[in-house]
Amino acid sequence: MITGKNCIGGRFKADGSVEFRTINPKENVENPMVFLEATKGEIDAAAELAWTAFKTFRNIPGKQRADFLNSIADEILALDKELVDMYMLESGLPEGRAIGERGRTVFQLRSFAELVSNDDWRENTFDAAQPDRKPMPKDDLRKTMIPLGPVAVFGASNFPLAYSTAGGDTASALAAGCPVIVKGHPMHAGTNELVASAIVKAAEKTGMPKGVFSSINGNVQAGVDLVNHPKVKAVGFTGSIGGGRALFDLAAKRDEPIPVFAEMGSINPVIMTANAISNRGRELAKTYAGSITLGTGQFCTNPGLLLTVKTDDTEGFIQELAKKTIAIAPQTMLHPNIKKGYQKKGEDVISQDGVEVVGEYKGDLEPNDAASIIASVSGEAFLKNPKMHQEVFGPFSMVVQCKGETELIQIIDGLEGQLTGTLIAEKDDDLNLAEIVESLQNRVGRIIYNGVPTGVEVCPSMQHGGPYPASTDSRFTAVGIHSIKRWVRPISYQSFPMELLPDHLKK
Ligand code: NAP
Repeated sequence: MITGKNCIGGRFKADGSVEFRTINPKENVENPMVFLEATKGEIDAAAELAWTAFKTFRNIPGKQRADFLNSIADEILALDKELVDMYMLESGLPEGRAIGERGRTVFQLRSFAELVSNDDWRENTFDAAQPDRKPMPKDDLRKTMIPLGPVAVFGASNFPLAYSTAGGDTASALAAGCPVIVKGHPMHAGTNELVASAIVKAAEKTGMPKGVFSSINGNVQAGVDLVNHPKVKAVGFTGSIGGGRALFDLAAKRDEPIPVFAEMGSINPVIMTANAISNRGRELAKTYAGSITLGTGQFCTNPGLLLTVKTDDTEGFIQELAKKTIAIAPQTMLHPNIKKGYQKKGEDVISQDGVEVVGEYKGDLEPNDAASIIASVSGEAFLKNPKMHQEVFGPFSMVVQCKGETELIQIIDGLEGQLTGTLIAEKDDDLNLAEIVESLQNRVGRIIYNGVPTGVEVCPSMQHGGPYPASTDSRFTAVGIHSIKRWVRPISYQSFPMELLPDHLKK
């Protein structure tokens, strides 16, 4: 049963009186559960408990942390239908997506459990002493990775499970030995509470310190208080550029600045060569209509920008893409604010000089349904106007028709940082593909060849993060086991006696 309370170090409590409710976006009505925002005192308590827990949690052997992570996965599965129903109620996403995302969440938890079952992830290095080295002796040096401290995680609206309460940020931080305080996404407070209860049960069953996990409900101020708290040592965020940048700036202004790993907006450019369009334009239009509308376009890897060199085939391709896209039945967006944002940003982009709407869904819509849009513009107009580069979060894509390869490369070079870039080309293409790849790789974290950017595999070779504003630190990934590196730092031990070294450095 939902209590509406905050989870402070394993205890569900609510000292405050400010209430809020989540929304059922399908019905466009408030849900019956009432949630209470955390007070400043509760946020302080969560951070202090996390700091106390850190002192023991960071030294708990990896195998025990693995048991904790596996136990969280088990408890999430045990919530079964209750969790799936709550997820659907609060997000408007269908059952298949709920089950799929739960599977991904459980997989991530188990992957991190496996990772920390031994100490290889710490990348330990050993340099033996050379007491007889001339002219100076060399000391024994050993380097390893240690956790940063309590991590604040902001739940993502577009992944209520896999990038929220027990999602990738939380799983990787706990695996590293960092206690976690989650600010649940306010639109998914029920889903957040259920998952928080699963984490609390797992922590109790596996004997973890009580401050190892907390979850707070709240508004913008709660997030600000959390990031400003001196006992919080790092932040994980997925959401808007405005939100991520605000938290990044806040963290930088603290007396002790801390890292903020924010994964934000992207328009994920797709370069389609004229040869590819001429040879398989119809097939590409169908595939891309599916990718643009997948999950109502609410994926950070949604292809919002298609770039091509204009030929006689381009117009036919754009018409076909528009036809196929608007033929796909509209779906509910995650919450009314996201729908408002989609409409506002969409209108902003299509009202720019030179932008033509080629297709827009005009059928009946429920209040939070999104009408898909395909727009088109010349390369020249796009180059002059950065407003056209903004993310329109939803089923929207713009085709840019360049006059030649030089203009295409100029556009790629002028783009902001992106999560992905895609190249759709033929084997013996007329375009200089190597030059395009050279430009593209400077702007993105992942390059896809002859595929679609949507669908992010969780595996070690996945890079999910790119130059700003795709993420605040392009050296790290938010997906896959290497995301643990965000929450640790290297430390060297010089000339240490064996008994004072951590176990994993004793050899
Ligand atoms: P959001 O507005 O960035 O909010 C995410 C979380 O950050 C919420 O908990 C929010 O709190 C908090 N937050 C936002 N601004 C803050 C600030 N200045 N200081 C402290 N906390 C702050 O994202 P959203 O609600 O998920 O969606 C809004 C828009 O973000 C979407 O329409 C879309 O454009 C973009 N988005 C992009 C991606 C992506 O992957 N590229 C994913 C999700 C969303 P409150 O809700 O209490 O304000």
